[in-house]
Amino acid sequence: MTFADLGLSPEVLKAVEDSGYTQPTPIQEKAIPTVLMGRDVLGTAQTGTGKTASFTLPMIDILASGQTKSRMPRSLILEPTRELAAQVADNFEKYGKYSKLSMALLIGGVSFGDQEAKLDKGVDVLIATPGRLLDHFERGKVLLNGVKTLVIDEADRMMDMGFIPDVERIVSLMPPLRQTLFFSATMSKDMRKLADKFLMNPKEIEVESPSSTASTVTQGMVRVSRHEKRPALRAMLKDETVKNSFIFCNRKKDVDILLGSLNKHGFNAGALHGDMTQSSRMETLAKFKSGEIAHLVCSDVAARGIDISNVSHVFNFDVPMHSEDYVHRIGRTGRAGQEGHAYMLATKSDEKFLDSIYKTIGKEIPVITLDAMDDIKTEAREIAERSRNGKRGTSSRTSRRSDSKENEGRSSERNQTESRRAMSENKTPSNQNRRRRNKYDRDEDDTPVLGLGDHVPAFFNIQLKKASS
Ligand code: AMP
Repeated sequence: MTFADLGLSPEVLKAVEDSGYTQPTPIQEKAIPTVLMGRDVLGTAQTGTGKTASFTLPMIDILASGQTKSRMPRSLILEPTRELAAQVADNFEKYGKYSKLSMALLIGGVSFGDQEAKLDKGVDVLIATPGRLLDHFERGKVLLNGVKTLVIDEADRMMDMGFIPDVERIVSLMPPLRQTLFFSATMSKDMRKLADKFLMNPKEIEVESPSSTASTVTQGMVRVSRHEKRPALRAMLKDETVKNSFIFCNRKKDVDILLGSLNKHGFNAGALHGDMTQSSRMETLAKFKSGEIAHLVCSDVAARGIDISNVSHVFNFDVPMHSEDYVHRIGRTGRAGQEGHAYMLATKSDEKFLDSIYKTIGKEIPVITLDAMDDIKTEAREIAERSRNGKRGTSSRTSRRSDSKENEGRSSERNQTESRRAMSENKTPSNQNRRRRNKYDRDEDDTPVLGLGDHVPAFFNIQLKKASS
């Protein structure tokens, strides 16, 4: 089957040809004609399957007729993370280059001004994360009753991140007569129940078992102790087959710490996690794409859907606590039929997570031994020794040096937290919005709020009268 058989317009076909695609992927074959017919779609598909084009290509043709109105977008695509939203926007630009469609991208971390100016002019396509969209709605900057096509992408991720109430609210603001396309990498009972709320007589499309890992990815696992993790990772990174890599940690504070350690050991690495500003996240991703940064230490915010081809390795520095995350993480390598490698460092305490990963992927991950294991063990003993000495307060010169680097990581995290706090305590008229935005903007790997978080009860600010003597 060719793209021309799918019923797309000459403009879209030309853009597809320019992209170098010769054949539609299975999801494109199934979804494009259905979407063009105006039918709802319930799609089980992961990123990497060509899913984005399966809805953007027909949407471009559907939107070719009709007029834009100020603040009333004609279609809406909801994405769980800023990166995914930005990626979909790139796709619209690429495939829509011969069609005159206007688009706005509403994501957190960038200024409201430009987004509002676009909305005022009127847009055909609105691509948004739920929190930022609700912010604009509440400011009266966008109306959703003109939306005729709605895409809810990565619905399972939305559920994991606690966005479903926001999504339900957004859908309640739309006309019931609309076309809805609902995509999820997994289709659990809960997901189906949710989909039933939004869809009418959908065509079900499933293209790949959600738990399958690409056969082009060689997987392996190294059994280590906690202190062996960093030396083991460094040994693996030094292998000459490692051109570039995603290195996944479970917690964002560990991302900073590991980055500090890798940089200290001379690795060309950067970080990507939810506490970074949007501009530095974009900048880091661009540097990684261009090869300026070779290794990207990241939290799971980067695991979903980031579409970068030619990534030779994925390292799970931590065993993921949710088995599906394993599938998504290692899906960053071995894309589009290329060869990929995914290695994981597992400690004794990871057993129960490993069991659940094996269940999900339907097999065990082969255990490998590293040639440098003896050196790694020696280094780990030294690290353990230093950390014991450190705890006793009798740190050696080396331990002081390595600790100071780790503290740098921690202090940079503290600085970020402090600057976030400073922002939220800034008593500007938009302070209220900012606080609410913090709540909605949890499209990332949030850490639990400690103490009062950003909320300062009003009575804290009441001036007390001095007791008269
Ligand atoms: P997605 O699943 O939308 O994240 O797409 C994964 C990658 O596949 C992206 O880099 C697309 O540019 C690419 N792609 C999409 N459709 C095709 C196609 N028909 N042939 C080759 N590559 C494609």
